[in-house]
Amino acid sequence: MGSDALEKLRAAVRDVPDFPKKGIMFKDITLILSDPVLFRASIDLFLERCRGRQIDKIVGIDARGFLFGSAVAYELDVGFVPIRKRGKLPYRTEVAKYSLEYGEGEMEMHVDAIMAGERVVLVDDLLATGGTSAAAAVLIRNAGGDLLEAQFLIELEFLHGRKQLEPTPVTSFLKY
Ligand code: AMP
Repeated sequence: MGSDALEKLRAAVRDVPDFPKKGIMFKDITLILSDPVLFRASIDLFLERCRGRQIDKIVGIDARGFLFGSAVAYELDVGFVPIRKRGKLPYRTEVAKYSLEYGEGEMEMHVDAIMAGERVVLVDDLLATGGTSAAAAVLIRNAGGDLLEAQFLIELEFLHGRKQLEPTPVTSFLKY
């Protein structure tokens, strides 16, 4: 992807101060989603990193990870697995605790979502402290999944979230 497309995506990320709490600069990606050229460009970034890697499943994190992850899975012709905040998944789940930039919680995945040995890529909109995606990585690994990489449209580098994810390789496209 050219630097021009990346700059257009960056320009469409809207900073919303003090949302959902005072002191948080929220990176709003809805102007990317609502523009067909930008939405496709954002999905293409993930696809470029995924093609040719024999992926079995894309795992998306509640909720904006679903928007990107499901489109990526569709295009790769592989399965999609949602990891959700506690209480949203109907069947039996495994649970992992996490902390994030503005709160604490637990993430869940269905017990039969990933089979041992499946090659998995984790997708979310944004890497902040890394708490959420680290919890997702634990769920994937505990299920026996081979977590190839965690991919994010946006990374807030000053929060050093990729350290939390070690040893999982991390790719992000727009860094702040
Ligand atoms: P963290 O666990 O701190 O890496 O937080 C990542 C999760 O929280 C992602 O699912 C993001 O969607 C959301 N998130 C955290 N901080 C922000 C932010 N500044 N702007 C938008 N989303 C955020």
